[in-house]
Amino acid sequence: MSTPLLVSIVCPFYNEESGVTAFFDAVTQEFAQLEKYTFEVMCVDDGSKDGTLGQLIEISLKDPRFKVVEFSRNFGKEAALTAGLDLAAGDLIIPIDSDLQDPPSLIGRLIQAWEDHDVDVVLAKRSNRASDTLGKRLSASAFYDIYNALAQIKIPTNVGDCRLMTRIVVDALKLLPEKQRFMKGLFAWVGFKTVTIEYTRDPRSAGSSKFSGWKLWNFALEGITSFSSLPLRIWTYMGVTGAMITALYALFIVIRTLIFGVDLPGYASLLVAVLFLGSVQLIGIGVLGEYIGRTYMESKRRPTYLIRKTYQQGDTKNSPGDGRFRLNTAPKG
Ligand code: UDP
Ligand code: MG
Repeated sequence: MSTPLLVSIVCPFYNEESGVTAFFDAVTQEFAQLEKYTFEVMCVDDGSKDGTLGQLIEISLKDPRFKVVEFSRNFGKEAALTAGLDLAAGDLIIPIDSDLQDPPSLIGRLIQAWEDHDVDVVLAKRSNRASDTLGKRLSASAFYDIYNALAQIKIPTNVGDCRLMTRIVVDALKLLPEKQRFMKGLFAWVGFKTVTIEYTRDPRSAGSSKFSGWKLWNFALEGITSFSSLPLRIWTYMGVTGAMITALYALFIVIRTLIFGVDLPGYASLLVAVLFLGSVQLIGIGVLGEYIGRTYMESKRRPTYLIRKTYQQGDTKNSPGDGRFRLNTAPKG
């Protein structure tokens, strides 16, 4: 019999202490039903300030399939996912949220879909977002509409980060050198043969969402500016349209003066025109700022994340022996 395929589950944790045990129980139960495969779980602790890390280390001591990566601080979910994908050794790789909103039963369904179709990616689409607030659903839907109108490489609507990818897809993702990583866009950019399955997104098992309105807004900006330059170029067209309208208006004033003589009133319309154009210019500069700021950050070539320590059974010190854990470790001294 050939060696069973290894499936890596990649899971970011940020202040999830109230949900770690439930996650462990649910995931190991699911593994028990999938005997054909072997599993590893890359648990990335994204700088949690509560007891999450301690609990994860305990789990890694109990079950060697669970490996823990501790970041030096909170780098954000995209960085945590990137680290997990960098370190995962599996033939099949599945990112999943640690709050059980992507139910672990999806792991089996994703693998089944991959077995049934000759594909490299199986997407998990949320058929029902009832567990999200109305505000979140509306803003998510607006985001997908705007993003897909602007970006050339579309992202599928209501598909989060949870999906199955084969090794070739993850290796392709690793080829993309950008440091600020909008994963949904990167996943779409690499392409590959894809099928989609649907699932119902459960409510959080415990704790509360880590994405506030402001964080989501910045996440959306990051996505759009990473994958579309249309907001930059649009100002050329706005400028040309404005200049044409102004030229026509000037012509109109000249003709009117010639016919009716000099006309003093009109400060209100002048004020409106000045204020309006001033604001449009400020917005234009702001859009430039979004891009220049990102180019600036990217040009520093700082790593996406720094690892403080990694843990797996038999080794609670730095960098266990299989070499994979040496990536991106913080420099000493
Ligand atoms: N997360 C993270 N770093 C962060 C914020 C969130 O690793 O800075 C993790 C979090 O622990 C969870 C996943 O990302 O596993 C999704 O976060 P959350 O459930 O808060 O987002 P939502 O489901 O509300 O969009
Ligand atoms: Mg969640």
